[in-house]
Formats: sequence, structure tokens, C-alpha cells
Amino acid sequence: MSLIENPSDTSDTCCRTTRRNVIGAVAALAAAPAIGLAAEPTAAASASPETLSPDQALKEIMDGNARFVAGAPTAHTKDLAIVKARAAEGQWPIVGVLSCADSRVPVEMVFDEPIGRLFVTRVAGNITTPEIIASLEYGIAVLGIKAVVVMGHSNCGAVKAAIENPEVPGQISALFPAILPAVYMSGSADPMVVTRQNAVIQAATLINSSPVVEGKVKAGELKVVPAVYDVATGKVELLPIPPAMRMNK
Ligand SMILES: [Zn+2]
Repeated sequence: MSLIENPSDTSDTCCRTTRRNVIGAVAALAAAPAIGLAAEPTAAASASPETLSPDQALKEIMDGNARFVAGAPTAHTKDLAIVKARAAEGQWPIVGVLSCADSRVPVEMVFDEPIGRLFVTRVAGNITTPEIIASLEYGIAVLGIKAVVVMGHSNCGAVKAAIENPEVPGQISALFPAILPAVYMSGSADPMVVTRQNAVIQAATLINSSPVVEGKVKAGELKVVPAVYDVATGKVELLPIPPAMRMNK
């Protein structure tokens, strides 16, 4: 977990989102230049979040996924330069991602984004727990991310376990209740069908349960988009949220 420094107070490495901290952070964010990407090849790649629309931010990461699928990623060539240049000064991510913890879903690689560009939260089954929602609210309210991608993936063990409901050790079964609505709503025992439904439900839950998220979505300043990642091809597919699943349209 790297809820990194509030840009207004680098001595505070925790993530207290008091009103003072939020306002200070947002002010500092607005005044700060884009993270040191002077060597970036394109203007789009170096744009800070306040200069991008939600659609532009999503286009950037989907263009990155196309490079990843084509076997022509470029982000890794910039990472060390970014660390050396300015990563310690703050973070200016453009997109938040809620991903499964599965080791086959390396989020920055999948979207071919360098250090500092994605605000990633991960938990098995990509479920919207209170802690995940709080983390993404920080990314939205303080860091100014313009889109959140809620991304399930093929061959997801958490989804399969929720469908089959086996005896499991420890606290693994704590994941199941959040995934079961997708099993019931889809009426399917096909893991991929449930995975797609789960991504949609978790994205809708993020909007419906958070005034911070809902307010930004309504204002057109944020998009929350379900997605599925194919671990066999590397391809990300964005999914729609049915209007009926949004409680406060
Ligand atoms: Zn998974």
C-alpha cells in the first residue's frame, strides 16, 4: 500500500484526509508541474491530471494496453529516470485502478504506464471494501485522478471460489460475500460471466457508496469504468455500467 505523501506535507506519510490536508494538497497539486517527464516523447504522456479529461486519461491507458498487447511497451524505459528525477516530490497519477491481487495482472505493465501514472489498489476479487473505497477517494479528491478502472480478469481464483464455495482455510471466505451478488445477478456458474458481472457491480458500488465518487461522476470530472483483463492475450476490455445499476442518476 503506498498512499503516498500528501503533496502539501511530505513529512506526513500517512493518509489522513482532513479538510485542511485535502485543501492544501489540492492547492499544491494545482501549483505543481507535471512529474519530471522532460524526456517524455509525447505531450500526452507527460500531461498532469488537471490538464486531462476523463476520456483522454482512459485513452492514454488503453493506448498503453495496445502497445503491451503488441509487444512494444515503452514505459519501463522511463521508470528509472522518473525515480531519479522527481518521484520523491509527490505523485500525479491520472487513473486509479482497482485490480485483483492475481500475480498475472501487473497493472502498470498491462497499461504500459511508468511510475507515477497509475494509482493502483488491489484486493483478491477486485472488490470495493471500505478501505479500497477510502484509498480511491484519496486518489480522486486529493490527487485528482480522472478515471477509475475496476478490472477483473479471466481465470480469477477468487471468483471461482465464490461460485464453488469450497471449504477454505483462514479468512479466505471473507472475500465471498462481496462476489456472490455477481453470481446471483448473472445466474451463471461460468467464471468469465461472473467476472464480468462482478466488475460491473463493484464499479457501480464504488459510485453508489461514495459521495466523493458520485459527485465527481455527476460533474463529468471522473469516469468509473468496469473492465476485464484477459490473462491469455494481455488485452483489456472496457465494459458499460447499465443505467439501472446507478442508484442516483
Ligand atoms: Zn483474481
